[in-house]
Amino acid sequence: MQFNVSLLLKEPTGSTREYGIEDDIAIDGATHRVMGRVRLDRTPRGVLVRADVHGAMDDVCSRCVKPIAYPIDIDIAEEYIPTLDAASGAAIETVEGEEDAYRIDARHMLDLAEAVAQYWTLEVPMAPVCEDDCRGLCPICGEEIAAVGHACSGEEIDTRWSALAKLKLG
Ligand SMILES: [Zn+2]
Ligand SMILES: [Zn+2]
Repeated sequence: MQFNVSLLLKEPTGSTREYGIEDDIAIDGATHRVMGRVRLDRTPRGVLVRADVHGAMDDVCSRCVKPIAYPIDIDIAEEYIPTLDAASGAAIETVEGEEDAYRIDARHMLDLAEAVAQYWTLEVPMAPVCEDDCRGLCPICGEEIAAVGHACSGEEIDTRWSALAKLKLG
């Protein structure tokens, strides 16, 4: 997901490029197909990147461990600062406030993959669920509590056990 911005960097502030995105990128050890659009605007310092990227995440429900897939939609807005001046070749140092900025490399390639991976990671829920009201697995038999045929009344037994535990403490 790299864009050569050597020409854009030689153009005046406000110059623009737009590209479609369709790519596979590695995020946390898994490959994800991402699609979307990116708009690059020349700024006085570098290139403002605005990208609208979407994909899907395969995961398991944090309650019942059923495999699930959910959409990921990210909106990126970041100013990329060049490493070298495209006209003179002189090195460009970051100024205060730009220490964490994404950089355009010495070959004037702007790589969107790292930003996509970072934004993507922020969109992934800590505890994804298959359905908002997923009741999870029975602590007694390990079956899904809501499953048809689940009949051991695990929840009631569980309640009685906690009552017993309280008795022992007293
Ligand atoms: Zn679930
Ligand atoms: Zn059960």
